[in-house]
Amino acid sequence: MKRNIAILGSTGSIGTQALDVVREHQDQFEIYALTANNNAELLIKQAKEFLPEVVVIANEDKYKLVKDALQALPIKVWTGSDSIAQVVESEPINIVLTAMVGYSGLKPTINAIKVGKAIALANKETLVVAGELITALAIENKVPILPVDSEHSAIFQCLTGERSPIEKILLTASGGPFRNHTKEQLQKVTKKEALKHPNWDMGAKVTIDSASLMNKGLEMIEAKWLFEVNPDQIEVVVHPQSIIHSMVQFEDSSIIAQLGLPDMHLPIQYALAYPNRLKSSFERLDFFKLKSMTFEKPDTDRFRNLAFAFEAARTRGNMACIMNAANEIAVSAFLQDKVGFLEMSDVIEKTMQKTCFVHTPTYEDYVQTDMEARHIALEFIK
Ligand code: MG
Repeated sequence: MKRNIAILGSTGSIGTQALDVVREHQDQFEIYALTANNNAELLIKQAKEFLPEVVVIANEDKYKLVKDALQALPIKVWTGSDSIAQVVESEPINIVLTAMVGYSGLKPTINAIKVGKAIALANKETLVVAGELITALAIENKVPILPVDSEHSAIFQCLTGERSPIEKILLTASGGPFRNHTKEQLQKVTKKEALKHPNWDMGAKVTIDSASLMNKGLEMIEAKWLFEVNPDQIEVVVHPQSIIHSMVQFEDSSIIAQLGLPDMHLPIQYALAYPNRLKSSFERLDFFKLKSMTFEKPDTDRFRNLAFAFEAARTRGNMACIMNAANEIAVSAFLQDKVGFLEMSDVIEKTMQKTCFVHTPTYEDYVQTDMEARHIALEFIK
């Protein structure tokens, strides 16, 4: 039987690559719903090709445009961000791929888990903000969370068939475009330079996060929740070639790694087809072309965001939610040339100090924290 998929954020980098996977395996997958925030033109094009039951355009100003364009087709068109949280509950859906950007992924993911849909998780912020709540809900509703992030897909693959406890996760990081920059150089980097990632082709938010190592910090917290380890069991290893996508060390000293060329199609396909591996046309890794792999320790003196993430993970409560909100505001300000590259870390640090700490937050506390932290971060930017 074909798997019915809802893609939340279908016009983004993960969304479009997921549709490449579906296009290559039409005997396996069917698109039930596509949602986009703003990009009506691409959503219309995708809807015409994949003929989903429902499309949602979150931006209400674009509703008429999408509705008119799809008028002749048997496709329901909905609008508003509430519709995204609602569409995931549709009965025929088997898997929800959460590929929207940032905090906005939280509500629809919670709804999808509550009605028992498998989650292909590409929105790491969901687990960063509310990992405790999400993992408990997933267990309660017997819902699998299948990681799409390449590092977490690697760890997940390394753990397949293993019953023994993890001693340590070795989370690999490319180091981003500024790996060898001095602090003085980092002060002056531009948004254009930061948006050029050496290995991975990704959306703007995650590309800036990669350059500042916040992405690795968010991934560390994501890994902590997905694989039930504490932050001290996760070591970040800078590996500029991005060939080893992460590793797991066991108590007998054995280390298992997952390797491949840096291409998001693979982790997306693995999550959608799990537990099967589908034949693919992806380029194969050639060790003789690669020649060497190198490894370094991350420098948290130049890349302070990684230290903040470890601090947030150890503090628990709503601290990671605070950090994430401040980071979303800082990245958006950097993309609008309102703060410099290093100033993003200052905004995050100050917001973490000033926002109300809640030890055991409820969903409502997370919503409140997110709002408060954004407000405080914006004040620091002014
Ligand atoms: Mg990643």
